[in-house]
Amino acid sequence: MTAYLRPTDDAHAIALRAAHADYLVLAGGTDLLVAAHHKPVPVGILDIAGRFAGITVDAAGARIGAGTSWRAIATSAELAATWPILPAAAREVGALQIQTRGTIGGNLATSSPVGDGLPVLLALDATIHLASVRGARTVPYHQFCTGYRTTALGADELITAVTVPRPAPGTYLGWRKVGTRAAQSISKVMAACALEIVDGRIATARFGVGAVAARPIRAAAAEAAATGQPPTAAVAAAVAAALRHDITPIDDVRSTAAYRLEVAGNLLARFVTNAGRTQG
Ligand SMILES: Cc1cc2nc3c(=O)[nH]c(=O)nc-3n(C[C@H](O)[C@H](O)[C@H](O)COP(=O)(O)OP(=O)(O)OC[C@H]3O[C@@H](n4cnc5c(N)ncnc54)[C@H](O)[C@@H]3O)c2cc1C
Repeated sequence: MTAYLRPTDDAHAIALRAAHADYLVLAGGTDLLVAAHHKPVPVGILDIAGRFAGITVDAAGARIGAGTSWRAIATSAELAATWPILPAAAREVGALQIQTRGTIGGNLATSSPVGDGLPVLLALDATIHLASVRGARTVPYHQFCTGYRTTALGADELITAVTVPRPAPGTYLGWRKVGTRAAQSISKVMAACALEIVDGRIATARFGVGAVAARPIRAAAAEAAATGQPPTAAVAAAVAAALRHDITPIDDVRSTAAYRLEVAGNLLARFVTNAGRTQG
């Protein structure tokens, strides 16, 4: 029979994880239960639903507990005021039922190339907070995904939170998901950006792109093409062209490599021209 453990608080969850590194960690269960019939029955379940939850905002930035639901993120006025692309992405994760159960920590740990929260966290330069009985540590999010559905999470660790710094003044934030339809759709391509504009030029560019490689990626060549340039149509075209060096899309049941390449380039180009429009 599968054992079942439910910690009484966050510290208890960390202690139980250390004692039972072979147990399955369950948060909202919206990824785990879909795959449950195709996997061996787990030795035990560590049910952390409701643990590590909550959003706090201060002068430095926002801290989102790993157990925070997409619904809480989607409806957070504090996040919407400064990091509107986070609630925007949250509103496009599945439908209301999935948003109510599913957590940002589950999205991070599953680390699917089509995880909708992930390009946004890359664009916002997020930091992942991990804890075990050995202590707490942080990993910059752009180093957290190590390959196809693999991460830097240790076997005895839990994700406790994600933090995002406040964007510099004059930063344009963008997010766009492209799927088969407007709602309840697995992404064909999605992208997010943070473009800091200083004196009419892009001083810092971060592009996070999903569903175009084995893991969500920062588009380094596209970022280099944007940095130091004005947000014009010509630069937008150069960014789209440079993106071809960053991504390796595939043909699969949801889309083709050629479509993904074209659309991802268009999304980044549109971010640049939209950033230009905000400059008046
Ligand atoms: C119908 C449907 C539609 C969906 N649509 C979308 C969509 O549009 N976009 C999208 O991105 N996703 C979608 N998903 C996937 C899923 O809802 C999300 O990835 C969600 O964020 C997973 O969170 P969870 O809390 O349910 O994770 P769980 O299923 O509980 O766990 C997922 C993985 O994360 C691990 N884990 C969870 N929390 C922690 C933690 N704190 N520390 C360490 N490990 C942890 C678990 O052990 C497990 O390996 C959909 C799923 C379904 C069933």
